[in-house]
Amino acid sequence: MNAPSPDWHAAARALRIDGRALIGGERVAARGGETFDCRSPIDGRSLGGVARGQAADIDAAVESARRAFDDGRWARKAPAARKKTLLRFADAILAAKDELALLETLDMGKPIQYSLAVDVAATARCIAWYAEAVDKIYDEIAPTPHTALALITREAMGVIGAVVPWNYPMIMAAWKLGPALAAGNSVVLKPSEKSPLTALRLAEIAVAAGLPEGVFNVVPGYGHEAGEALALHMDVDAIGFTGSTRVGRKMLEYAGRSNLKRVYNELGGKSAFVVFDDFADTARAAKTVAGSMFFNQGESCNAPSRVFVHERVADAFLEVVAAEAPKYAPGDPLSGSTEMGAIVDATQLKTVLGYIEAGRSEGARVLAGGSQARVESGGFFVEPTVFDGVTNAMKIAREEIFGPVMSVIRFKTEAEAIAMANDSSYGLQASVWSDNINRAHRVARALKAGTVHVNQYDEDDITVPFGGFKQSGNGRDKSLHAFDKYTELKTTWIRIDGE
Ligand code: NAD
Repeated sequence: MNAPSPDWHAAARALRIDGRALIGGERVAARGGETFDCRSPIDGRSLGGVARGQAADIDAAVESARRAFDDGRWARKAPAARKKTLLRFADAILAAKDELALLETLDMGKPIQYSLAVDVAATARCIAWYAEAVDKIYDEIAPTPHTALALITREAMGVIGAVVPWNYPMIMAAWKLGPALAAGNSVVLKPSEKSPLTALRLAEIAVAAGLPEGVFNVVPGYGHEAGEALALHMDVDAIGFTGSTRVGRKMLEYAGRSNLKRVYNELGGKSAFVVFDDFADTARAAKTVAGSMFFNQGESCNAPSRVFVHERVADAFLEVVAAEAPKYAPGDPLSGSTEMGAIVDATQLKTVLGYIEAGRSEGARVLAGGSQARVESGGFFVEPTVFDGVTNAMKIAREEIFGPVMSVIRFKTEAEAIAMANDSSYGLQASVWSDNINRAHRVARALKAGTVHVNQYDEDDITVPFGGFKQSGNGRDKSLHAFDKYTELKTTWIRIDGE
């Protein structure tokens, strides 16, 4: 029998958060004693104070991470031993699923059912997957002349700085932690100031599961303070960054101004969803785009926010999209059946409403939604919104909104669709919908994006790389390729006499 689901409101009322940083295996207040207020977007209520990390806290965390790396307490453990500890960590995440899901929902507003089924589950799976992988990877021997042996090996880099956003706080952290820790590195994680709570608990859970102290540190704080200090630090070997393209640019500058640390940027998106008139099941395409666009309040880097539809099927397609949109109307994130939750904070709410206003004033037509919702809750909610009559030149088609706003653009020819889909500074994901196998392959090849979906948009797995072309970034999270980011490739030449 399934356990009864918790009374999430009662659990939320009973929750006491510990907002202190975690450095060297211990919870500590910020060196300067400052905190910032952590507010829930569900109702605007304060959840408590969180340590406002600054350069001195980052220094302490990097020092602790460096010490842990250099003395080999983790890096020099056998891969099978690291695997064992990380599997315990993954199990402990699942054992704490209700608490982690509640923290995630209260902190950033997503529906509790998805915090549980998606965020906690994917976080544990990610850690476990890299744990399982690490004792199954072999290095290489080069095909050199017999007089020498050349070993090509991968080595852990050292101290990795991870700076992550608020839309999937735990999953984004896990995509860095999984490969970085499994490979033997130490990590200093700087969560978003909008969603610091689960990162702090994850680190505590990791320490309790046996991860040696200093190997995984968390310093919460603002981007321009703790984030900048981490990215400028002379003793950090690489930055795994997920966030906006604006801050991604700064990360590259920080590396240039400091020690040329490796910077792996996973940035924004404006993904194209291209529906041809030879795709028979228009309704399935329409339902898929609504589900993918409005999932996570539209706060997904890969949300299919630019929808290109052949003019012959556009009306039928839009009829279904307009009927689907209200099914994602925002509700109480702590209620088990809610599909869409709260926008992360008042600033992001204002940004999203500003884009809706821009769409209207540029002449696009609101087909569904278009307004703030649940104002009486004290939280930040927006209706799932669909714009028809958009052109690819409009602001709502060019800029990442990061909210539940879909822009629909009609096209006449395949060439026109490809040209418009690629006419974006972003290139994270794209999809093509066609029953013509030649067209599907042709368009999939032509689309400039890190991931292209054909006749679906939902598939996702830890086994495949995730990352962008163009200004959507350069790194790849997930899959075995992610190990490349957190390891150095070394060649060792060995002379063999007597051959
Ligand atoms: P953001 O760039 O504002 O912040 C991301 C992180 O960087 C936060 O921890 C923040 O505190 C920190 N930061 C901000 N300014 C900084 C500075 N000057 N120096 C150092 N660190 C700084 O992004 P956000 O609003 O938190 O997240 C939304 C963005 O993330 C969107 O653009 C979204 O597309 C992107 N994203 C990308 C992926 C991907 O895999 N490509 C996944 C999720 C989110």
